[in-house]
This record gives sequence, C-alpha cells and structure tokens, in this order.
Amino acid sequence: MKYFLLLGLGLLFLSEWAVAQEGVGTVEEMTVDADLGLSREGSRTDAEAVAREAEAINPDGLSPAQLAELRAKASNHTFQTEVNRMMKLIINSLYRNKEIFLRELISNASDALDKIRLLSLTDRKVLDATEELGIRIKADAERRLLHIIDTGLGMTKNDLVNNLGTIAKSGTADFLSKMQDVEKSGAQEMNDMIGQFGVGFYSAFLVADRVTVVSKHNDDDQHVWESDANSFSVAPDPRGNTLKRGTHITLHLKEEAADYLQPDTIRALVKKYSQFINFPIHLWASRTETVEEEEADEPAPAGDDEDAQVEDVTEEKKEKKKTERTVWDWELMNDNKPIWTRKPAEVSDEEYITFYKSLTKDTSPPLAKAHFVAEGEVSFRALLFVPRAQPADSFNRYGSKTDHIKLFVRRVFITDEFNDLMPNYLAFIQGLVDSDDLPLNVSRETLQQHKLIKVIKKKLVRKALDMLKKISDDEYEGFWKEYSTNIKLGVMEDPSNRARLAKLLRFHSSASESMTFLADYVSRMKKGQNHIYYIAGASRAEVEKSPFAERLVRSGYEVLYLTEAVDEYCLGALPEYDGHKFQNVAKEIFDVNESEQQKERWESYKEQFQPLTKWLDQQLNQYITRAAVSKRLAKSPAALVATVFGWTGNMERLALSNAHQKADDAQRKHHLSQKKMMEINPRHPLVQELLRRVNDAPDDPATKLAAMSLYRTAALRSGFMLQEGQAVEFAESVELMLAQALGVPAGAAPDEDDLDAAADHDDAADDAEEVPAEDHDEL
Ligand code: ADP
Repeated sequence: MKYFLLLGLGLLFLSEWAVAQEGVGTVEEMTVDADLGLSREGSRTDAEAVAREAEAINPDGLSPAQLAELRAKASNHTFQTEVNRMMKLIINSLYRNKEIFLRELISNASDALDKIRLLSLTDRKVLDATEELGIRIKADAERRLLHIIDTGLGMTKNDLVNNLGTIAKSGTADFLSKMQDVEKSGAQEMNDMIGQFGVGFYSAFLVADRVTVVSKHNDDDQHVWESDANSFSVAPDPRGNTLKRGTHITLHLKEEAADYLQPDTIRALVKKYSQFINFPIHLWASRTETVEEEEADEPAPAGDDEDAQVEDVTEEKKEKKKTERTVWDWELMNDNKPIWTRKPAEVSDEEYITFYKSLTKDTSPPLAKAHFVAEGEVSFRALLFVPRAQPADSFNRYGSKTDHIKLFVRRVFITDEFNDLMPNYLAFIQGLVDSDDLPLNVSRETLQQHKLIKVIKKKLVRKALDMLKKISDDEYEGFWKEYSTNIKLGVMEDPSNRARLAKLLRFHSSASESMTFLADYVSRMKKGQNHIYYIAGASRAEVEKSPFAERLVRSGYEVLYLTEAVDEYCLGALPEYDGHKFQNVAKEIFDVNESEQQKERWESYKEQFQPLTKWLDQQLNQYITRAAVSKRLAKSPAALVATVFGWTGNMERLALSNAHQKADDAQRKHHLSQKKMMEINPRHPLVQELLRRVNDAPDDPATKLAAMSLYRTAALRSGFMLQEGQAVEFAESVELMLAQALGVPAGAAPDEDDLDAAADHDDAADDAEEVPAEDHDEL
C-alpha cells in the first residue's frame, strides 16, 4: 500500500503550496470582522504572488530523500467494515450524482473552520499559526488533480486514522442495512436517503481513484493520509508543517471526472451547493485582462499654447498599445454575507430556496419559510423553514434529540446541538438563529444556560407557529398530511401555545368529504349549539356508521370524525375552542338541545321500556353499570357508552395496541375493566321484540341469549373489545343462532375429518358483527 503514498505524493506540491500560501497572505486584503479577525473578500493582483502560484500549479513533487523518508515511516491501515460498506454504497448509488463530492468536502472544510473559530473565541492563541479562515480550491489540469484546502481545525495523526478510517456517526449500521433494503427500489430514493444522511468525505471516491489528505492540527505535526479506497496509509510529512494549520485534500481524479477541473464547472457547483458557506471560497483562476502598455516616453513637443499642449497629451494617450494578458488570481466564488443578515425584501425566493437546500441537503424546496428580526428583551435574526417531508422514522426518535436550529452569535456559528431551541413537536423545523445579545467568549455549556436562550426559544416557537398559520390553503393539505401528528402532540405537550396550535388542527367531519378547521366548524354551528361534537374511531367509514353520531347528524348537527390514533388524546388536552367545549358523543353526558315534545316522548319510552332495562341490569350485571333508554340512537339497536371519565372504545383500543400509550399498565387495566353503560334504542324492532319477550317470559334461555348477544354486538359497534374469553362465547352463540336460522338441528356436530371447521368459525364471527336488523325474528 505504501506505493500509493509515494505515487500520490510524487505528484503533490505541498511545499510549493506552502510558499503560495504565504503569497496569499500578502495579497489578501483582509476585511476584518471587528472582534474575530475573519478574513473576507478582496484580492488584488500581486505580480510576485501570481508567479509563485503559477509555479505551484506545476509542481515537481517531493525530493528523493523525502520520498524515502515517507516510505520508511508510513503505517498501513484497513478501513472499518462499515466504511467499506459505505463506500460501496456511495459508489453504487450516487454514480449519477457524482458532483456532490465537492459539496461534501467544502462542507467538511467549513465545519473544521467553524470549529477553530469557535475555539478562538475563548482562546485567541489557536489562530497563532495563521489568522486566515477560508477555503481554497485549485485545479491542476495537467496532472488531473483537484485540491481543496482549508485553514480549519486540521487533524492530528490519530484523527486521520479515526475520522477517515471509521464512521463514528451513530445510526450508521442501521442506515446501511436500511439502504440495503432500499437498494432495489430505485436510484432517486437512494439518492434522497443517502443525501440526507450525509455521505461526507468518502464521496471523494466517486470522482477520484486516489485521495491524499495532508493535515496540520495545532496539537500535532503535519501528517499525510492516503488511500485508493481499499486501504489507507498514514505518515509524518517529511516536509514539515508547511500547512501551518488546516487540511489539504488532493483528489487524483478518474479519467472520466476530468470535467471537475474546469473552472466553470467548479464555479457552477459552488454556486449550486455551497454559495452560502460562511467562509470565503476562492478558486485559483485565470482571466484575460486588457492592458495598455506605456510606450517609451518621448518628450512632448514644446508648444506656445497651453491648451494645445493638453490636447497633445490626450492624443498621445489614445495611441497607447493595448495588449491582452492572462492574469492568475484567487477569485472569490461565494457571497459570504450571510443571507439572514440581509433585508427580507432584498432576498429573492430563489435565493431562499437555494439557501434552504444547502442548509438541509433537501432536494425539494421548503413548504414555508419565515425570515424575521426579533427585538425587545433580546434581539436576534432568524430564518425558519418547513421541509416538505420529515424523515420516515421521526416518531421513533420522537423526543430523543434533534431540533434542527443552528445557533449563531454575531454571525459566528456556535452549535446545532443545543436541541432546546424548538420543542419536540416542532423538531421538524429547519433554520437558524443569530443573536448579537449573547456572549461570544463563553463555553457552549455556559451559553446553553444563558437566560436569553429561553427567551429566544419562546419567540422562535411563536414565530414558527405564525409561519404555519400562514401556509396557504393549497399547501396546507400537504402540510397536514405530513405534520398533523406533530401539531396534535403539540396541543398535548405545550399548554402555553395550545390556543395557537388549536387553530392549526383539522379533522374529518360530517359536514363534507374534506377536512375542516375548528374555526370553520364553529362558524357552521346550529343556533343554540354550545358544544363541538366529535366521535373517534379507526376510520371515517367506521365512525360515520357509529350509533352515537348517526342521530345527531340526522338532526343537522355537525360531528367531527376523529380517525387518527392521537386525535382523542389531543382533544382531551384541549379544554375548549373559541369558548366551546368539546363533547365526545360516545360518552354519557349528552346535551343535545331538545324540544319539549322530544323530552316527553323520551320520558314515555323510559317508562315503557323500564321492564327491559331492569331485566338487562340483572342479566348483564357483570358487564354493565346499567341499561338506559337512549336519546341518540337512530339505526342501531344498542350501544355501550363510557362514563364521563372512562375511556371510549377508541381510546381503549389504542391503549391496548400500545400506540401513543400514555397510561401505565395498572392504569390501563383499571380503565379496561371499567363497566360501561348500555343504551338501547326504543324505536328499534329488535329492542321492541326483546321487551315483549321479557314481559312474557323473562326466564326463557333464548331471550337471555339474545340479551347477551345484543350486549356484545353493541360493544363491538361502539368500538370496545370483548373481554377475554368472550369472543369465543360470542362466536358460539352466533353459531347457535345461525343454526336456527338455517334450520340445522341443534347440537349437530361437525364431521370428524372436516378440516375447514376452523375457517367456518371465523367467518361466522365476522358476520355476527353485522346482524341485520331485519333478522330480529330469528332471535
Ligand atoms: P461527517 O463530516 O459527516 O462527520 P465525514 O466522513 O465527512 O463525516 O468526515 C469524517 C470526519 O473527518 C469529520 O467528522 C471530521 O472530524 C473529519 N474531517 C473531514 N474533513 C475534514 C477537514 N477538512 N478538516 C478537519 N477534519 C475533517
């Protein structure tokens, strides 16, 4: 493996580069950020420096003695298995998108610069080796080399071995196995996934068959790392610490990647992916300049007339020779005035989109954005974005880490790891905050404790919610599909913003096929209606048929259909909207305004059916709190109703399925064992028949069986689960009724070798849920 190192370095020109760097130092006109010494744009031609740079493009490598030394001292290493897998993956999946290598390398350089700048805030000495903070790119077309050089943190020998030989990132193994599954599903999806994961340094091998990294960290001497993607070697640099500080990456480009040596290609890529990097990115480039050459001065002919002499001089100037010459210079490629420091009116949509993409690696434009200056107790600028999609596994990681807000103080990147600038439910929001009011020269830990951070967070959340509120109707559909669960969790988790969040909620409703905001529901409420009615279940189709909703809807009331697992918890946390309390129509208390006439009719039903309700109380004592005549059932014969503080069928099912489960086990059992109230529909022929039979022969086993079945179908209809053992009993009783209905003799046993018996069993249970009302005669 050593020969890679030798081959590579034979082509390198590090010592020349070092000379050139000095040249850069002198030609650079540093615009210094008052307290930071950040280097900024501005370069002018300096003949001497240009000459040295031009020379540096044609280096002649290491001396034989240096090569020998390098060979002697190189240590060889193998890559960690994950690295090999990652490289394979990158090369197989990103071959159509090779250009991202430059973005990744520039982004690494920028990170390294951020790190050293951050350290310099508390320890100025870290910049002693060089004050420069920037990225330089140089193409050597002749040797097919592309150089990317930064004056960032650099890497020690250990860093080189560890950072460029292993993958430290958590979740890499998961990611890799997931990618293996996705591998067949198409290049675009792969690209998106891998792009969001961030492929980093190893993407260099998309375009290079060999990569050399020379790095100088303040704590170590300069080292050379080199690899052909199969293994790598590391050696001390025989030329000494020529870099002063930072990292110089040389890509030995593959033949087919030669286009990346073209200045126009490089400029286009930097513009596309890296224009918002907050450090200057310079390209060593030539341009043609027209120069006027002074001709040897001949003394102007003496004239008497002063005016005439002036004219003569002008004429003479016009005759000066114009020649073209090539000027090599560092050309600044990015506008590193941070976009968020500009006035919103002066930033185009296009710029926002490009900035967003470079910030997030997302390939789609954002769904919404907010760019604002906050003033008052603390002043800061912020730029927030809503991505069109959130990673598929967001909720598995819910609450574990990660907001996506970068913190800057006076334009200096501090951290993206505070993770408390946004609450969990808004963790999908991407963006940054930049404040002048926070101290720069303190540790991150101290900063995190700073009282203003809390104030900033509070304002950020408000602004983020404003941004969501402003999403247009057209876009809201997409937003809601992607983020409805976040908003509902927000209602539960963020009491101080509950009212704001409630305005974002949308639910299915009996009013129309499309979803409705609560404000729209309220605007449609019937005269005298005080409550917002809702019913929860597994799907719209299910709740539409719910015995609780049907009568209300029939009499013109609107009922919200809560069909998501989290909906019922969400409304449980919301005491009211716009002064209207929520009323779960599956719970006991129910106050539809009713006319005197209706009341009277109900009173008479109550009396008429009293024998039946009493009888049911006794028969079903074990399962129900009591039986009562219902005011709200229309089509169904009976329903089970949770008490006001009990769980509805929907919540019970959720608790058991463990989705978004908040209650602990004991609490869960307690709720599940709670008895429900049974409501019967006095208008229903089944119920009427049952009353007749109870009056005639209350001890008839067939009547008892009917009562039990009615209870169980009611439970199922109302979304409750049958308690253990009941499902089998239920199935058996339905089968008994089936036998009667079909005229099969009671007690007839299945044939001995009937293999399909089990399947018949299941079908019977399914049918039972939908015992049609007309069948009441058979009971
Ligand atoms: P990531 O940047 O996502 O951590 P990479 O594979 O791109 O993954 O890089 C691995 C590590 O190598 C980085 O975390 C960093 O520590 C180090 N590194 C890469 N490039 C540079 C650089 N230009 N300067 C200093 N360190 C670097």
